[in-house]
Amino acid sequence: MAILGAKKFQNYIDGEWVDAASGGTFESTSPANGETIGVFPKSGLEDVDHAVAAAKAAYEEWRLVPAPKRGEVLFRFAQLLAEHKDDVTELMTHEMGKVRAEAAGDVQEAIDMAFYMGGEGRRLFGQTTPSELRDKFQMSVRMPVGVVGAITPWNFPIAIPAWKVAPALAYGNCVILKPADLVPGSAWALAEIIARSGIPAGAFSLVMGRGSVIGDALVRHSGVHAISFTGSVDVGRRIAEACVQGQKKVQLEMGGKNPQVVLDDADLGKAVELSVQSAFYATGQRCTAASRLIVTEGIYPKFVEAIKTRMAKLTVGDALAAGTDIGPVSSQSQLEQDLSYIEIGQKEGATLVAGGERLKRATEGFYMAPALFTDAAVSMRINREEIFGPVASVIRVKDYDAALATANDTAFGLSAGIATTSLKHATHFKRHCQAGMVMVNLPTAGVDYHVPFGGRKGSSYGPREQGRYAQEFFTVVKTTYTDPN
Ligand code: NAP
Repeated sequence: MAILGAKKFQNYIDGEWVDAASGGTFESTSPANGETIGVFPKSGLEDVDHAVAAAKAAYEEWRLVPAPKRGEVLFRFAQLLAEHKDDVTELMTHEMGKVRAEAAGDVQEAIDMAFYMGGEGRRLFGQTTPSELRDKFQMSVRMPVGVVGAITPWNFPIAIPAWKVAPALAYGNCVILKPADLVPGSAWALAEIIARSGIPAGAFSLVMGRGSVIGDALVRHSGVHAISFTGSVDVGRRIAEACVQGQKKVQLEMGGKNPQVVLDDADLGKAVELSVQSAFYATGQRCTAASRLIVTEGIYPKFVEAIKTRMAKLTVGDALAAGTDIGPVSSQSQLEQDLSYIEIGQKEGATLVAGGERLKRATEGFYMAPALFTDAAVSMRINREEIFGPVASVIRVKDYDAALATANDTAFGLSAGIATTSLKHATHFKRHCQAGMVMVNLPTAGVDYHVPFGGRKGSSYGPREQGRYAQEFFTVVKTTYTDPN
């Protein structure tokens, strides 16, 4: 698969590789060195109409294909992706700066999800109960929703599209993928593999271009029945409003401001390691990253010293080089945002104790030293707003009760972690922490694909993703009654 180097890529619509109807294009470039990844179609409304019409036509047949047969397409997709894992990993690393091991993990999640979902279609259990009349029999079955629009962010360029596309197809829907315009190359690679997996024309389409144009068109299109979105809170809220207007199903996975609590009784080495993992790996660009390290006062001084020492050992640089821990920030605008929060934090009175500056490396990339603030109050913007970069702050609290209250003092509720050796506190935290996912002595990021994924409060809206819970969004229930006489 020739995917690297500057060449022209196309949309995949109705089983064909096609240019944008307008002929417009845009470039994707590497955050490590500005090198061109490729030239991609800048699609418009006509392209969305084309993909929706193709999906609508394909749906009439695809929904009737027996689930095990649909599953075979997903198994081939998983198998082919596994065969091309190294190529796709390298492309992703070039395109958005995730280090090789993390990019490989991203691809592996998609492989796992496609294998898992390939078997899920045949486990679409319904419900039967005795009826209230003698000769009346009823059953409730799950049916596909119809045409699904999948709108995805740049930070997991292969895994997140697969979290949406695989269950959509497994349950008999047709799906149109609109990837983030920062990572069209990765989406193209995924589409290339799906196209080779025996998928019927129109059942899966890829349309690339601006979210404000074609993402919006998908959301408002009368031929689209459901939107699965992952991205920022602002865009998600606008999408939800439009979906309610259009009476579409909607699922939103959005931002986080995740807490990592460290209690006095924690294993210090473990607490530091998982905090560094949660806050700075993947350049802090994970919705599940922990950016608020909430530390009780007995361990606070030791924790701050130990995490500074550990951070000094992090290698920031070429994401493809062995030994690199943290690659470049994904784009110039994201780097500017990260650096602006360093200024904001300092102006607010927090103390910058490590990092926070732009780094020079062999190439002109968007490299930044992971930043740590102390003396950071809960009310500060750096502790309330999602920065989405390698920036974390340590918040000192008196005891466990204060730690829990601080952890919950946020508009978000995606993931939360606690480092402790106390069964009592770990159990209490799991019960009372207002997050969709809670980790004990584990990083806040790093989840399994066969269990529900999602959050509470400002982080998520609608049914959970992944695992068997995916059917809540990607199917609708139909109840049928029969008098057999
Ligand atoms: P974003 O700016 O909201 O974009 C997400 C997607 O929405 C992109 O494909 C974007 O297209 C599209 N879009 C933009 N404007 C749109 C509109 N008006 N109508 C329809 N679609 C539109 O988010 P991002 O910067 O890519 O991703 C970072 C965010 O994602 C962070 O907030 C992060 O926390 C969140 N995230 C959440 C999860 C989770 O599971 N909770 C996982 C990963 C990331 P363009 O790229 O073309 O603008």
